[in-house]
Amino acid sequence: MKDFTYLAPSTVAEALGLLAEHQGKAKVLAGGTDLMLQLQDGLFTPDFVIDVRRIPELNTLEFDAQAGLTLGAATALRRIETSQVVLDKYPHLATGAREIGSIQIRNLGSVGGNICTATPSADIIPSLVSLEAVARIASVRGERAVPLESFFTGVRKTVLGPDELLVDLKIPAPAPRTSGVYIKLYTRPAMDLAMVGVAATITLGPGDSVIRRATVCLGAVAPTPIRVREAEQLLEGQAVTDALLAQAGQAAARAARPISDVRASAEYRREQCDLMTRRAIRQAVERAKNAA
Ligand SMILES: Cc1cc2nc3c(=O)[nH]c(=O)nc-3n(C[C@H](O)[C@H](O)[C@H](O)COP(=O)(O)OP(=O)(O)OC[C@H]3O[C@@H](n4cnc5c(N)ncnc54)[C@H](O)[C@@H]3O)c2cc1C
Repeated sequence: MKDFTYLAPSTVAEALGLLAEHQGKAKVLAGGTDLMLQLQDGLFTPDFVIDVRRIPELNTLEFDAQAGLTLGAATALRRIETSQVVLDKYPHLATGAREIGSIQIRNLGSVGGNICTATPSADIIPSLVSLEAVARIASVRGERAVPLESFFTGVRKTVLGPDELLVDLKIPAPAPRTSGVYIKLYTRPAMDLAMVGVAATITLGPGDSVIRRATVCLGAVAPTPIRVREAEQLLEGQAVTDALLAQAGQAAARAARPISDVRASAEYRREQCDLMTRRAIRQAVERAKNAA
C-alpha cells in the first residue's frame, strides 16, 4: 500500500477545508471496511486520508416526530441496527444494516461508507431509497440536498465531487400506519452479498383496507438501485389481493436489469424480483397494520 498522510479533523468545516486543499489527492475514511481493501488493491492511491469518524455531526442518530430521522454519514451500521427508534419506526432500515457482513464489520462500517462505495449489492441502500432519504452533501462551495435515488450514477459511481463530503441523511417521519420490509437473497446465511435485494415501504389508508402509499426499491439487479414506480402506482389506492401482488411483482421483474454472474443467472434474478417484491409488499402491509 502506498504511504499517505493521515488527517483527523474534528469539525465538518475543517474536513471540507482539507478536502478543498487536497482535492483529487485525498480520500475520506469512515470505518475503512471498504477503503482499506481498495488502498491495498491499489484502486486508489491517495496522498491524504481524511478520517471523519471523530466529527460529532457525522455521528448523529436523532429522531424528531416532525423532521424525521437524521443519520450522520459516519454512524456505525451496528448502532443503526440496534437503535430502538429505528427498530420501531424504520424496521427495514435496521434489517438493511443487520444484513451487512458480521458484527465486527458493522461495528466499523458506516451508513455513509456503504452508500459512497455505491456497489449494486449494498444492503442499506434499498431501504433508504424506499424511505425517500435525502443526502446532505457539503463542500467549501456550499451545501446541496440530493434525493438518495438520484445519488448513484453507475457501479461505484455517485454524484459526489472530489471536494464533497456526505454529511448526513434525512429520512421523513413515517405517516401513521406506515412500515416496511427489506428482503435479501443470498446463497450463504452470513457474510454473503445480495443476489437481489427488495425494500418496500407501505402506508395504509383508514381502516387498513387499502394501500395509501407504496415505495418499492430493488437492489443488486442493475448498476444503480431501481425505484419500481409502475408497481407503486398499481398499489396505491388498492386493496391487497393476490392478483394485485402478482401485478406489482411482474412490474418489478420488468424494471430489473440484472446480469448473469457466478452467483446467479439474470433469469433467476428477474424471477426472484417478482417473487420477493410480492413477499416484501405483503409483509410490509402486515407490519403497517400494527404501526402507530
Ligand atoms: C468481510 C466483509 C463483508 C461485507 N459484507 C457486506 C454485505 O453483506 N453487504 C454490504 O452491503 N456490504 C458489505 N461489506 C462492505 C462494507 O462493510 C460496507 O460497504 C461499509 O458500510 C462501508 O462503510 P465504511 O465506514 O467502512 O466505509 P469506508 O471504507 O471508510 O469508505 C468507503 C468509501 O466511501 C467513501 N466515504 C466514506 N464516508 C464518506 C463520506 N461521509 N463522504 C464521502 N465519502 C465517504 C470513502 O472515501 C470510500 O471510498 C462487507 C465488507 C467486508 C470487508
